[in-house]
Amino acid sequence: MRVLVVEDEVRQAAPVQRGLEAEGFAVDVATNDVDGLWMATEQSYDVIVLDVMLPGLNGYRVCAELRARRVATPILMLIAKDGEFDEAEALDTGADDFLSKPFSSVVLVARLRALIRRGGSNRAPLLVVGDLAVDVAGRSCTMAGTPIALTPREFAIIEYLLVHQGEVVAKSDIVSHVWDSAFDGHDNVIETIRSGGYRIRAHV
Ligand code: CA
Repeated sequence: MRVLVVEDEVRQAAPVQRGLEAEGFAVDVATNDVDGLWMATEQSYDVIVLDVMLPGLNGYRVCAELRARRVATPILMLIAKDGEFDEAEALDTGADDFLSKPFSSVVLVARLRALIRRGGSNRAPLLVVGDLAVDVAGRSCTMAGTPIALTPREFAIIEYLLVHQGEVVAKSDIVSHVWDSAFDGHDNVIETIRSGGYRIRAHV
């Protein structure tokens, strides 16, 4: 799943990015309101983490502007605990959830997964196709009941394919949802990934 983090302070954005990447998310960071608006509008994200305290347009205004542009991506707003902003305002401007700073990476990840499930097309916590079962919340995968060890990237690809089962998924879709925008390799990388002896096939 691909996440956009809009946060101007590198000290705060970096640990969030690391924590999410460790959980298999592809993470892009926008460090100002202009970049955040542009990236959220022009690119495809599964969820957006939006800091309220931004120079220029604050997070509330960015959120309202995204909704005005009909960007429906779920948004979790980060709120300073003792700041002048409050939760009600976050929800009023079109945010789907909010989290007070400081927060743990575990809580952030759990909230984002919940948002992605709610925001998506009836996504179930357990994704199943044939003998393959993926527990999204538990980050585990089994084939006919036998656990399969996957890297975070492999898990992200399987999760993406299962969420879109029955659909033809382009390699470029997989790349854009599983890798961050810094990825500059060829999408042939998809064809070289094997997991548990089952080759992943993507249709262009
Ligand atoms: Ca900030």
